[in-house]
Amino acid sequence: MIFWKVHRVKVRRRVIRGHYKKHKRQAEEVIRLRLQEFNRHYGFSYNRVTIRNQKTRWGSCSLKRNLSFNYKILFLPSALQDYLIVHELCHLAEMNHSKNFWSLVGQTIPNPKQVRAQLKRYVLQLR
Ligand SMILES: [Zn+2]
Repeated sequence: MIFWKVHRVKVRRRVIRGHYKKHKRQAEEVIRLRLQEFNRHYGFSYNRVTIRNQKTRWGSCSLKRNLSFNYKILFLPSALQDYLIVHELCHLAEMNHSKNFWSLVGQTIPNPKQVRAQLKRYVLQLR
């Protein structure tokens, strides 16, 4: 039983890594393009954009103005992709989830909190 469990975890990890390698570049293209499009509106400056394979996060924004995104964004509906991209983009101006932050996001994403609620359905698929 224990042996079987260990084996299953190993196989699964290898599959996940392969999936990430296969789709990373495409995710990067899609995300960079959308970032540029939305940033025509905002005009923020950012440094590096990295694509990662994280278990629990869709994206992040660092104090050094680097943005990172989970490659699995590629498999979400486009409204959710846009929301996640704009969310991290707006953290460049507001490093919090204040009213100001949400009104910034709302400039390009209608009803961002509603979209965020939809996203919760997809969280399980990250694991
Ligand atoms: Zn946030």
